[in-house]
Amino acid sequence: MEKVLIIGGGASGMAATISASQDTARQITLLERQPRVGRKLAATGNGRCNLTNMQTEPCRYHGEDPGFAAPVLRAWPPERVLEYFETLGLKTHTEYGGRVFPMSGHAGSVLDVLRLSLEKPNVTVLTDCPAETVSRSRAGFSVTAGGRVFGADKLILACGGCAGAKLGGVMDGYGLAASLGHSRTPLYPALTPLRTMPEYPRALKGVRTEAVVRLKRGDHLLAEARGDVIFTETGLSGTAVFEISRFAAGQRELTAELCLFDDPEEALTADLLDRRRRWPAMEANRILTGAVQSRLGQMLCKYAGISGGVSVSELTDAQLRTLAQAMRAFRLPVTGLSGFEAAQVTAGGLRTSEFDPETLESRIVPGLYACGELLDIDGDCGGYNLQWAWASGLRAGELR
Ligand SMILES: Cc1cc2nc3c(=O)[nH]c(=O)nc-3n(C[C@H](O)[C@H](O)[C@H](O)COP(=O)(O)OP(=O)(O)OC[C@H]3O[C@@H](n4cnc5c(N)ncnc54)[C@H](O)[C@@H]3O)c2cc1C
Repeated sequence: MEKVLIIGGGASGMAATISASQDTARQITLLERQPRVGRKLAATGNGRCNLTNMQTEPCRYHGEDPGFAAPVLRAWPPERVLEYFETLGLKTHTEYGGRVFPMSGHAGSVLDVLRLSLEKPNVTVLTDCPAETVSRSRAGFSVTAGGRVFGADKLILACGGCAGAKLGGVMDGYGLAASLGHSRTPLYPALTPLRTMPEYPRALKGVRTEAVVRLKRGDHLLAEARGDVIFTETGLSGTAVFEISRFAAGQRELTAELCLFDDPEEALTADLLDRRRRWPAMEANRILTGAVQSRLGQMLCKYAGISGGVSVSELTDAQLRTLAQAMRAFRLPVTGLSGFEAAQVTAGGLRTSEFDPETLESRIVPGLYACGELLDIDGDCGGYNLQWAWASGLRAGELR
């Protein structure tokens, strides 16, 4: 019997285990350092698990060589991944932008079907069992974990990255791979909230809105994205912010510019003039009542220099034009990125030039494979990272 050891019971490790176990002539052992498998998976997509994206293209991925992901994504495109999950019993539905979620609305359903599929005679799952050391000899791999020594003919590293520390993101995988001779690229948090000057976000903490977010250095546009924006204690979060966050890494003197209204400035000014005519007695800082969430409306007024205590009728045309400009460009100086703890994904990882892009086998150590976030591949926000975890895990588990 061929002995296969898989380190890491997250998304990619579970996929690899199920894939490898199709061959009943193999005995698979899955080691997970946490008390249960798939802990991070259960928290994905705000508890709903955005498990893939039907618009998956290689251009949605990043790393030293993003093209590395292409063969695996071709072999396991989202359609095939979903068919696979269907065979495991999962029902899904597709939302805007090609984002796929379990029909139940619960990430737990994805985890449930995976755990059920791990219950096989040729699979042993050991939790609370962190792999500590790994070595390779002529006889195969030797791994120490939880006070025991495991031997294996083939080894798959699926330890994930260091993002989402509270959910189990650790550096272990990089160290284990290094002890076998592999190197990694620099790591930095991606899909992470932006820290900004706190004055406005703090007062708006918890407010969620749809906006176009532009990341700028002076007048130079570095990135923009449309989607959810959530104001937090320290700055901005939400899918649109996650999208642009990778462009903020290592940069200084940045501004996040929120465009809360698509209409041209003239149209917005005309609407404000109309509001002044219709509700002259209203308190000035409530002029945007009904147009945006009330706290956000008052904050935009403050930003534009309009305070309460006077009536709308007292606002000048110039003040209304300034407010219209703020509705299209609410600027917040960026002070930095949130760290790995708040990040959804690790950018950087095991150097992909050291792995075969077709099989994910190491070019340095025969019989060693790696998958998921541990490799230097990370995706955009919207289900692309789990798509990579499934596709690469299923591919690595083929043990070709
Ligand atoms: C809050 C949050 C929300 C997210 N939401 C989404 C989403 O909706 N859609 C999406 O596409 N992506 C999402 N992501 C990203 C996605 O979860 C990850 O990219 C994906 O889980 C990576 O899979 P993985 O198997 O490589 O790593 P992980 O899922 O992190 O699994 C790695 C596993 O290895 C284990 N491990 C590590 N070291 C050892 C060791 N030494 N011995 C044994 N076990 C070890 C860890 O405990 C962990 O269980 C989200 C991430 C976070 C943090």
